[in-house]
Amino acid sequence: MFDLIIIGGSAAATTAGIYATRRNLNFKIISKDFGGEVATSGEIGNWPGDGTTDGITLAQKFKDHLALYKVVPEEGIWVDKITKQNDGTFCITTKKDGSITMAGEKIEEETVRGLTCDYIAKTVLIATGVHPRELNVPGEKEYRNKGVSYCTTCDGPIFQGKVVATIGGGNSALESGLMLADIASKVYVINKNPEFKGDQVLIDNLKSKKNVEIIYNAQTTKIVGEQFITSLNYKDQAGAEQELKVDGIFVHIGMIPNSNLVPAEVGKNAFGEIKVNANCETNIPGLYAAGDVTDVPFKQIVIAAGQGCIATLSAVQYLNKFSINPK
Ligand SMILES: Cc1cc2nc3c(=O)[nH]c(=O)nc-3n(C[C@H](O)[C@H](O)[C@H](O)COP(=O)(O)OP(=O)(O)OC[C@H]3O[C@@H](n4cnc5c(N)ncnc54)[C@H](O)[C@@H]3O)c2cc1C
Repeated sequence: MFDLIIIGGSAAATTAGIYATRRNLNFKIISKDFGGEVATSGEIGNWPGDGTTDGITLAQKFKDHLALYKVVPEEGIWVDKITKQNDGTFCITTKKDGSITMAGEKIEEETVRGLTCDYIAKTVLIATGVHPRELNVPGEKEYRNKGVSYCTTCDGPIFQGKVVATIGGGNSALESGLMLADIASKVYVINKNPEFKGDQVLIDNLKSKKNVEIIYNAQTTKIVGEQFITSLNYKDQAGAEQELKVDGIFVHIGMIPNSNLVPAEVGKNAFGEIKVNANCETNIPGLYAAGDVTDVPFKQIVIAAGQGCIATLSAVQYLNKFSINPK
């Protein structure tokens, strides 16, 4: 039985882990991977104390910081479901089938109300972030990892000297376009709207790049290829179908919260983000959420980290009063 299970392996989970160890909690960090969206963030200039850094370096620093306290996150664990039990504890089940592997041994197994739990904890923190929204056009699934990518930082360098397209109109798309401008020979930025929604400094930088062509009012309709992608089609403002020959496509059209794992009764907003109060409490006592998966208005590393801290300190207060109490 753990005091706290932290689900996630990025900014919110790391900070939660640091606070949990300093408060002597019996806890575990479990996650699909370590680094999350931080590791895909490219250049980062707003993490205090670091000047300019990049996502992969910062994620490694997070891991090193946990290691200082001898905390080793368990990676390769995909949490499927969290259930609150009659005695007030939480049962956490993980996916073990298909391509998902469990890292390490099962920690604890108990059968409660017919459920087999991989972990049982008095409190749980959900710090599972978000995943990229898909275009939902023909060819997208087929050519994923065959020219279609959702992470410019990870895959951009493969397209040295090639022709690529970034699809989207916010900061992620702008950052993707800027990064690709330094790698590819030509970058199309496909925006379905008549203007960008991101930071003006990024928009100005992108517009100043000689090898970048911005196409506004363009709705991507199809991705075409053979073994690898060869082109994308889009509908222009007049409704005419256009074709662009490209070697790579980077999709940056928004994010979807990884919030399906929570009990059905947990409050969410219209976007599927978990509703939390100022203490990072959900509407279920003992269940906390922090970072991009929540309805916090701005999605930033420093905010996720701050919420990871708040959630853990709130959990400590709750644990001080906790007693196993079967109803
Ligand atoms: C391209 C890009 C650039 C960005 N640039 C910046 C920037 O310059 N500055 C800035 O402050 N922010 C930036 N951000 C935003 C920043 O990355 C996020 O705010 C931050 O990563 C949120 O951290 P998090 O801990 O909430 O979640 P995430 O970083 O999303 O991590 C979630 C973790 O949960 C794990 N997980 C998910 N589902 C499950 C599950 N079911 N079971 C187990 N584990 C699970 C994932 O594997 C991952 O480890 C950028 C984001 C993007 C996409």
